[in-house]
Amino acid sequence: MGHFQWTGETTRSFKTRLRRAGACILAAAAALSLTGCAAGGGSSSAAGSSGDSAEIFAMDTVMDLTAYGKNGPAALSASEEKINALEALLSRTKKTSEVSRLNSAGGAATAVDSEVFSLISRAKALGQDTDGAFDITVAPVVSAWGFTTDSYQVPSQSELDELLTRVGLDNIALGADGSITLKNGAAIDLGGIAKGYASDCVANIFAEKGVKSGKISLGGNVYVCGSKQDGSAWRVAVQDPNNSESYVGVLSLSDAFAVTSGGYQRYFEKNGKKYHHIIDPSTGYPAESGLISVTVVADADADAEIGPGTVCDAFSTALFVMGADRAVDFWRSNGAKYGFGLVLVTDSKKVLITHDIAGKFEEQEGSGYRYEVVS
Ligand code: ADP
Ligand code: MG
Repeated sequence: MGHFQWTGETTRSFKTRLRRAGACILAAAAALSLTGCAAGGGSSSAAGSSGDSAEIFAMDTVMDLTAYGKNGPAALSASEEKINALEALLSRTKKTSEVSRLNSAGGAATAVDSEVFSLISRAKALGQDTDGAFDITVAPVVSAWGFTTDSYQVPSQSELDELLTRVGLDNIALGADGSITLKNGAAIDLGGIAKGYASDCVANIFAEKGVKSGKISLGGNVYVCGSKQDGSAWRVAVQDPNNSESYVGVLSLSDAFAVTSGGYQRYFEKNGKKYHHIIDPSTGYPAESGLISVTVVADADADAEIGPGTVCDAFSTALFVMGADRAVDFWRSNGAKYGFGLVLVTDSKKVLITHDIAGKFEEQEGSGYRYEVVS
């Protein structure tokens, strides 16, 4: 369920691997409601001159990792181990996770794993930057729509009104002792940031292991390490939200992260209306902002206080909620600070590209979209 496809040479190998792992992916899709591939975080791997690659099902999505060079296999197995460890800590549906422990603490101060503590602090800080458009306390609302269990329903307005009284970043109290208190009946859901954080962790592992070239897609959270074997930039396609077979354009990226949020990836239909999984915390409803996909792009930055993958993931969700005008304003005030650019796709068939990344973006001819660079 990636929002990106690799293009050019890599499209084929990507598709081939997907096909080869077809059984696993099918099992994984079924595993959303049953068990199987998902339970053990099944993986498959392939090696060769095209690099070593691994396919993992974790965090409710398919993850595809490739690393070149002699340390590729070691980097991939360390990455897989890290991703599985993160899932065990961060999952909302695994009862033993740190997040579940916190959510079921009944408002008591709870000592949590230090890595989880710092991710929650970052999620809170990034959420405050977005004026609450990104808000991990939206958890009870996400559940009311059935996105946690895959048994979907449209909640009543009175139920939403009650749940919204528990939503708000102020309900997350970060203790100086490393404990967290969820006040006011709040609960948290890291689904909008966990894969981005995992991509930062993989980037660090690749660096530690000396991998100079590689690419990963963690359910649409892309990180490209270095450049391709021939020295050219990686080509990362931004999917057309209206057509999974096609894309709106291609980004040429090296040492960078690109994350897309779209309403077209996870949704259900009721009475002819589509309800997707990105919730506007101010209404409790799936965001209807006029944007149908948001891609946030940032260069890798080893010195960043908050990893760029984490930032891109939080902001892609937030900006989808904000809509195009607010998203562009947000980029104008925060783009330089965090070092990110945007590709926004609107429901009126427009693609807006911020000028900082315009030189890396190639329009897709015949896509039917109008392209506009904003500054
Ligand atoms: P995906 O996980 O499909 O890549 P996102 O990164 O946009 O997409 O995250 C969406 C997930 O984040 C939802 O499934 C839900 O768990 C959670 N979520 C939904 N709305 C918000 C929001 N406004 N702020 C923070 N998290 C959210
Ligand atoms: Mg996100």
